[in-house]
Amino acid sequence: MLIKADPTACVGAGQCVLTEPTVFDQDEDGIVTLTTTHPEGPAAAAARTAVTLCPSGALSLVEHDT
Ligand code: SF4
Repeated sequence: MLIKADPTACVGAGQCVLTEPTVFDQDEDGIVTLTTTHPEGPAAAAARTAVTLCPSGALSLVEHDT
């Protein structure tokens, strides 16, 4: 699973970081950054949840990135 984050769409709500801090972080302006683009195990499950929770639709995932 590949996680993608669009910094131009992010509104800095921080919901993703609260949901999975090992995958998502925020820069000094509050804009999302990714600690990893390929989370595994519990982090992958939580990242999947974060994608659904993001209020701005800035997060997306690709199930099979070959
Ligand atoms: S939840 Fe969405 S809007 Fe909020 S910081 Fe994360 S990517 Fe940005």
